[in-house]
Formats: sequence, structure tokens, C-alpha cells
Amino acid sequence: MTDDAAATPPLSIRRDHAAGVLRIAWHDGLEAAAKYPQVRVACSCARCVDEVTGKRLIDITDIDPLVIAEELQAVGAYAIRIQWSDGHNTGLYTWPQLRAISEAALE
Ligand SMILES: [Zn+2]
Repeated sequence: MTDDAAATPPLSIRRDHAAGVLRIAWHDGLEAAAKYPQVRVACSCARCVDEVTGKRLIDITDIDPLVIAEELQAVGAYAIRIQWSDGHNTGLYTWPQLRAISEAALE
């Protein structure tokens, strides 16, 4: 059940600077290597997504291709916050969002 999987925390989230990816492993065996810029552009904070229209205000061309996830911080039991090397850190990544990012990274 995809919905159940999405509500479950990942087994692990690891930064791999050498590969430039966030490695996200899930209970159902899904293991994704999501490129840092792809994760960065998926930020859903108010500076990245219009809160009224839901329109994304940034696209991949706005993101430094060499951006790095400098720090991961747990936010309660439902999300992480990522400190990016471009200074951005206002976005939360909930488990369903990380799941969506993981599935997109497989394609
Ligand atoms: Zn943002």
C-alpha cells in the first residue's frame, strides 16, 4: 500500500557527498539515490511554493547543480529539515514528500 509506505518514516536517510545524492531507504525495500538538486528543488516552503496557488516558484534551473545537503535535522516524528549549502533551510520534507522524491528518483 503506497499510502501506508508514505506515512512511515524512512529506514535511513544518508548523505553521499561523493555521489551528490541523498540515499533514502524504505521498509518495503525501495532504495533511492535522489540527486541533491532534485531534492532541493522539491522544497515546499513558502519561498519555493506559492501558498495560495500552490504554484512552484523555483525550477531546476534556479538550483546550483553542486548544491549539497550540509545537515539533516529531525522535525518531530514526521519530517526532516535540510540545511543546504546555498543557505536555504526553511523547507520541511515530510515522509510522504520524501517518498515521492524517492519514487521520482527511480524513473
Ligand atoms: Zn524552500
